[in-house]
Amino acid sequence: MTTPQRLALRGDLLDFTATPGWGDVDPAGVRWRPDHWLLVEAGRIVGAQPACVDLAGDWVRHEFPGRLILPGFIDTHVHSPQLDVIASYGTELLDWLTTHTFPAEARYAEEAVAHAGAARFLDALLAHGTTSAVVFPTVHKRSVDHLFEAAAERGMRVVAGKILMDRNAPADLCDDVVQAERECTELIERWHGRDRLAYAVTVRFAPTSSPAQLAMAGRLVARHPGVYMQTHLAENRAEVDWVHALFPDARSYLDVYAGAGLLDDRSVFAHGIWLDDADRRALADAGAQIAHSPSSNLFLGSGLFDWRAAEAAGVAVSLASDVGGGTSLSMLRTMADAYKVQALRGERLTAWVALHAATRGAARALRLDAEIGSLEVGAAADVCVWDVAVGAVAQQRHYLARGLHERLFAWMTLGDDRNLVGAWVAGVRRDLT
Ligand SMILES: [Zn+2]
Repeated sequence: MTTPQRLALRGDLLDFTATPGWGDVDPAGVRWRPDHWLLVEAGRIVGAQPACVDLAGDWVRHEFPGRLILPGFIDTHVHSPQLDVIASYGTELLDWLTTHTFPAEARYAEEAVAHAGAARFLDALLAHGTTSAVVFPTVHKRSVDHLFEAAAERGMRVVAGKILMDRNAPADLCDDVVQAERECTELIERWHGRDRLAYAVTVRFAPTSSPAQLAMAGRLVARHPGVYMQTHLAENRAEVDWVHALFPDARSYLDVYAGAGLLDDRSVFAHGIWLDDADRRALADAGAQIAHSPSSNLFLGSGLFDWRAAEAAGVAVSLASDVGGGTSLSMLRTMADAYKVQALRGERLTAWVALHAATRGAARALRLDAEIGSLEVGAAADVCVWDVAVGAVAQQRHYLARGLHERLFAWMTLGDDRNLVGAWVAGVRRDLT
């Protein structure tokens, strides 16, 4: 596909200029620009103007009257090989790993499986309106190469790294400290900072890494400023008990990572359900983020994330599908599930807090807010066009909705990948296959 040098997209532009407050259905940080042109040159946003003002100059124009134009979504925690086990019946986290996940990941030892899987996964993300993601491939070094190669072909912003596991996992999925350190170093040198790709030191979770491997992961983070760190944290009660048994000297689950040098402002912790106030303070002080994964938490029965407590402590919260624990790559479905999780806690999640967490909030937590997550001048033109209502039920609800928040909340609650009209990545329109 070729990049048109000057591209103009017409529709209703929506993004954020500030963090919306909890419960506020009309916050100042919502930037709503109905019927505007969004202007793109050489893959970057260069401006916006009302459609009623004559658009001067030579632009390749695409008109989407009445449709939403948003920044592409950012999924901050998702497992590429687990598309193969999405919607698997009958288990909680630890059994789920053994029964479904590890066999699926073991298949990625085969080059052809890893190659085809990476392409299928990234195309599926795009087809759901997600243009940036923080991804777990597998323990196999080549799974990372295939994922990054496929992301580069699509121009996508992907953060990923080889999974580290050296105990409490099947032998064919275990590495060792020396080999893993060598492979990670090679991968960081090959991929980190190339195109739109970034490396994340990727610890599956504390129980599957020895103290020596955790210490090695900490060394990698210290030695390579700018790399990310991703792992799971306090997802499930049996898991938390196991961590306490394996690391009796640690004050908490988070403390295991902190003690290994794995807690800083580039750390992405999936879940973070079973935390206490001291953990939340430590996360906030470090500038780390929680990748809240509501669909997965509901599906595996892991627990109800306390978003208010995280927010009150100043912890950044982003949104994540966590497929295959989660049951959809759609960030709209994920937001709808996040609303339900908060409802079960007696709280209400506005469409604004949810949308912000999947766009600018996630970008800021990743220190990438100059690049993704908004329609600001200078940002990459990672942009999606959405139908606000698909099907008779949603259309009737849309017709009856009063005010912007009500309309957007109905879209978020009823929408999915069928609502996606088009996706541009760095100004290039991608096929939705
Ligand atoms: Zn996960």
